[in-house]
Amino acid sequence: MSKYFSKKYASLTPYTPGEQPKDTEYVKLNTNESPFAPPPSVVEAARAEGARSQLYSDPECSALVEKAAEIFGVKKTQVLPTNGSDEILHFAFMAFCDKDTPVVFPDITYGFYSVFAKLHSIPYKTIPLKADFSVDYRDYLHANATVVIANPNAPTGLCLPVWQIEEIVKANPDNIVVIDEAYVDFGGESCVSLVQKYDNLLVTQTFSKSRSLAGARLGLGFACESLIADLNAIKYSTNPYNVNRMTAAAGRAALCENAYFTGNCKIVCENRQATATALKELGFEVLDSKTNFLFVRSDKIGGRELYEKLKERGVLVRNFTGERIKDFNRVTIGTAEQMEIFLRKTKEILEEKANENSGDRS
Ligand code: PMP
Repeated sequence: MSKYFSKKYASLTPYTPGEQPKDTEYVKLNTNESPFAPPPSVVEAARAEGARSQLYSDPECSALVEKAAEIFGVKKTQVLPTNGSDEILHFAFMAFCDKDTPVVFPDITYGFYSVFAKLHSIPYKTIPLKADFSVDYRDYLHANATVVIANPNAPTGLCLPVWQIEEIVKANPDNIVVIDEAYVDFGGESCVSLVQKYDNLLVTQTFSKSRSLAGARLGLGFACESLIADLNAIKYSTNPYNVNRMTAAAGRAALCENAYFTGNCKIVCENRQATATALKELGFEVLDSKTNFLFVRSDKIGGRELYEKLKERGVLVRNFTGERIKDFNRVTIGTAEQMEIFLRKTKEILEEKANENSGDRS
């Protein structure tokens, strides 16, 4: 840290993104990207706009917003595109939390929430997940704070039904409830339609997972008009051109390719089911995922050890350090071929481990 760095950020612990290795070609199952490339129409839309990059982008992303409003069944004034959904979440922390309005979220969830809270000196409280790693919605009724819940949650993959989200929203009329639906397209229930009914709900979604655009950085926020206006006040005070021309065009084209994306989500869900079954046969505990990843642990090998041994064999998964989850790994669901390699290597590692253990005993 240089001597010039503002004291107010001295204790910052920045978010650590998942590894994006440049040295080796891994079977990359660590950052929940889609294994499928965007379709040609999306690539072409980005390319065509790239040729006009001498001009600023449309700060309102009008064409994208119009299509998103149509697809999601909301008004154009109820949508805000951002640079990844991280940005809309960041805007929400700035807009709806401060020292008098703290924020609550589960103890095991997306790591960026606490980073945003610390960045803006917002007091925050974490609520422990239940022993089975599920969120108990009753813990968030009358929270007296801004509520942030990833639904489905990450890294657990577990999902709350919409009626429970609605109970949380109804029980917090004087506070904002943010529902982060980054993974909703893989079997969760979206609550976007509730923004028509409640003026204290913000729902965020991303194009990074189901829509194969992680590298383009595009997220959407859905809320009533006045909340979107608040979020726009933050956007126009930080980065009015937050979504670049190529990304806005790619995002619009992606929304026109719904069949491609729903088809890909179906494949991911099938591969998830097959992988979960195979892992259970190997003795793993596998949480019931409604996302494009599985959260898994085994009594036969520690989480870190499995992660390291898979990495040595060219398969990258995500291991966590938190006390309750350090024995788990989060495994992104890729193609059937990728999952087959992952399973083969896992089996090999477990066999080796079993041999080592029997050697120790003899
Ligand atoms: N929410 C959750 C729960 C996530 O896991 C992620 C991705 N790591 C995001 C939001 C942010 O995704 P992006 O900024 O790529 O839209």
